[in-house]
Amino acid sequence: MAYTYRCKDYPGMEACPGSFTAESAEEVMKHAELHAKIAHGEDPKQWSQEDRRQVQNLIVAG
Ligand SMILES: [Zn+2]
Repeated sequence: MAYTYRCKDYPGMEACPGSFTAESAEEVMKHAELHAKIAHGEDPKQWSQEDRRQVQNLIVAG
């Protein structure tokens, strides 16, 4: 089983080509956090529970 997160699925990130696949959803979340920091200048530590849940909802199995 693999899990994938595509940054463009997040509202407002349609132009971003970032896509991450890993064996666990937890690892994908880590990649998404690092990507948000490097590519978008965000601080994942400042993400609200709602932001985090939205990213988790976009991590799809397959
Ligand atoms: Zn991105």
